[in-house]
Amino acid sequence: MDFTVSEKMQTILGMMKEFVQKELIPLEPEFLTKSVSEMVPVLEEKRQMVRQMELWAPLHPKQYGGMELNLMESALVFEVLGGTPLGLYVFGCQAPDAGNIEILHQFGTDEQKEKYLRPLVEGKIRSCFSMTEVELPGSNPVMLDTTAVKDGDDYVINGHKWYTSSADGAEFAIVMAVTTPDAGPYLQASMIIVPTDTPGFNHVRNISVMGHAGEGYFSHAEILYQNCRVPQKNLLGPEGHGFVIAQERLGPGRIHHCMRWIGICNRAFDLMCARARDRIIAPDRKLASKQIIQSWIAECAADIQAARLMVLHAAWMIETVGKKEARKEISLIKFVVANTMQKVIDRALQVHGGLGMTDDTIIAFFYRHERAARIYDGADEVHKVSVARRILKEYENKKVN
Ligand SMILES: Cc1cc2nc3c(=O)[nH]c(=O)nc-3n(C[C@H](O)[C@H](O)[C@H](O)COP(=O)(O)OP(=O)(O)OC[C@H]3O[C@@H](n4cnc5c(N)ncnc54)[C@H](O)[C@@H]3O)c2cc1C
Repeated sequence: MDFTVSEKMQTILGMMKEFVQKELIPLEPEFLTKSVSEMVPVLEEKRQMVRQMELWAPLHPKQYGGMELNLMESALVFEVLGGTPLGLYVFGCQAPDAGNIEILHQFGTDEQKEKYLRPLVEGKIRSCFSMTEVELPGSNPVMLDTTAVKDGDDYVINGHKWYTSSADGAEFAIVMAVTTPDAGPYLQASMIIVPTDTPGFNHVRNISVMGHAGEGYFSHAEILYQNCRVPQKNLLGPEGHGFVIAQERLGPGRIHHCMRWIGICNRAFDLMCARARDRIIAPDRKLASKQIIQSWIAECAADIQAARLMVLHAAWMIETVGKKEARKEISLIKFVVANTMQKVIDRALQVHGGLGMTDDTIIAFFYRHERAARIYDGADEVHKVSVARRILKEYENKKVN
């Protein structure tokens, strides 16, 4: 593996780091205390600055106004922008839009691309991805109750979803619904574009998560689809290929999540070290003089570096041998990095004592918000079982002395 970062990328990353430091981190106290709608105007201002610097939409296609960085380059960008909860949004590469952009670009018709993809990349609209259901296990996604039944030129969608992140204020949802119930389990569901102003798209509520219902982009919604009628031309890709499409975006999406988490680790680690350096715990002593704190710092540094190298290795595997061959690495990083992040945030919070529990630093936000990393995009246990199966398969006929 070659870790050299091109001069051009070093410049881009340097500009992004400076922007995060000067323009976004100072906004965090407001972000933690004001409502999302109060924050929108200032966030829009920052987005405009990013566009003027030509750093908008780093991973999205040039054809639609993005920078179209490759996977390794965009991984490094996510690490820098992940250090603040505002980074990805302000640079136009936030989930779930980023994933939706990728699948629209790969599978959308020309009409869908003009209507949905272009304004999405430009940051003029937002979108959401509606797959998980209230009554059925998200961990077994082939179990879906939501149906899309053909009627004339339309699909009529019925179902009850939740955790449709960022649905509040989104222009459209990409909905996973059963269209071909008689096909094999992985060919029953399709992705369908549903504008959120369609009658029958009912936004029930923003779910309160860890004490915060959130709002707008920063929220997770419960949605009831009741005879929600959309034209059949809103089908994304071939009918019954919902899981095939979801599979396509799995590798790059995972790299982006994990590098964002590494960015969070770096930020929490910085705050932890600075606090240990500055906090007086006896008249002539700082917290950093205590061996237990030194041990945490050393452990966290090692854990972050190991996790980071695993993610970059997985990205390199995807780029060199392809997603299919890199499946083990893609699954491994998901639970390793999520747990590393949780440990680092927890240690950073502990080192801050009572201050760590407040919203006077960003740590408590990370602590609340990022616990979900071990659940979404495949719970830890699901990845562990699948990796173990794959490894044990390798051992079926392997001679071991
Ligand atoms: C913050 C957040 C944002 C999300 N955003 C979206 C979104 O935008 N769109 C969307 O569609 N969904 C979204 N989700 C939903 C997410 O994908 C599901 O929560 C996830 O797939 C788990 O499904 P579940 O909640 O139904 O848990 P379940 O499937 O009921 O699983 C519960 C627990 O059981 C255990 N478990 C499950 N299966 C196995 C197994 N095979 N072996 C061993 N243990 C197992 C795991 O510990 C798991 O955590 C989001 C979730 C969160 C928390």
